[in-house]
Amino acid sequence: MRGKSVVILTGAGISAESGVRTFRDNDGLWENHRIEDVATPLAWYNDPVMVWRFYQARRNQMQEVEPNPAHLAIAEFQREHGNVTLITQNVDNLHERGGSESVIHMHGKLETLRCESSEESYVCMNLEHLSPDFVECSCCAEPSRMRPDIVWFGEMPMFMREIYEAVDNCDVFIVVGSSGHVYPAAGLVDVASQMGARTILVNLEEPMNAESFDEVHTGKAGEILPALVKTWLDEV
Ligand code: NAD
Repeated sequence: MRGKSVVILTGAGISAESGVRTFRDNDGLWENHRIEDVATPLAWYNDPVMVWRFYQARRNQMQEVEPNPAHLAIAEFQREHGNVTLITQNVDNLHERGGSESVIHMHGKLETLRCESSEESYVCMNLEHLSPDFVECSCCAEPSRMRPDIVWFGEMPMFMREIYEAVDNCDVFIVVGSSGHVYPAAGLVDVASQMGARTILVNLEEPMNAESFDEVHTGKAGEILPALVKTWLDEV
C-alpha cells in the first residue's frame, strides 16, 4: 500500500477485546439498555437522570480498560505508512491511548461534555465530573447543565465534510469492527467503492453490508489485524 491514501473506519468491535461491550450484543441491547432509552434526544428529554447515569458509567468504565493489539496495530500502521486517515464511530479514547493521533470521532467522545446552552465541548474527566450528579458548565454567566458529547440517533454525525473529502479521495478504505447498521457510517464503503477505492473489511463475522467489500477478513480484530497490517505495509 506504499504511496496510497488510506482511510480506516472503526466501530465498536475494535474495542470489544478491551472489554467494552459492542452496540448490538446477542440480546440486542447496549449494556442491558434498549438503544431508544439511552441514545436519543428524546430519551435525554424524558429521563435525563437515567441517560446521564448510563454515560457516566461508560465514562468511568473507559478509565478501567486498556487498548488492545488492534488499536496498537492501527497506530503502528499510521506511523509506518504515513498517509492514513482514522475515522471512528467509537466514543471511547482507546485509539488515542493506543498511540493514534488525529482521530476523527464522528459520533462524539465520552471524555468531553457539551454545554447545553453554548454547545461548547470540554474535556471533563476529573473526579468531580465522574459522579452520578449532573455537571454544570463554566462557560455561561448562569451555569448550564452539560450533556454527554455524543451523537445520538436522529442527530447529525460530526466532521462529515472532512470525512467525505477523505473517503472521496482515498485509494484504500478499510473497516474494522462495524456491523454496517448505523448510517451514514455504514454507507461510506459504497462511496469509497464508487470512487474506485479498494475496500477491505475486518470483522468478527460477516456483517449485513459484507457484499459491499472487495475483501473480507473474519476473526477477532486483536488477533488478525496485527498480521494484516504487516502485509499491508509490505505490499508495494
Ligand atoms: P456494532 O456494535 O453495531 O457492531 C460491532 C461489530 O463488531 C459487529 O458486527 C461484531 O460482529 C463485530 N465485532 C465484535 N467483536 C469483534 C472483535 N473482537 N473483532 C472484530 N469485530 C468484532 O458497532 P458499530 O457498527 O460501531 O455501531 C455502533 C454504534 O454504537 C456506534 O455509533 C458507536 O458510537 C456506539 N458504540 C461505541 C462503543 C465504543 O465507543 N467502544 C461501544 C458500543 C457502542
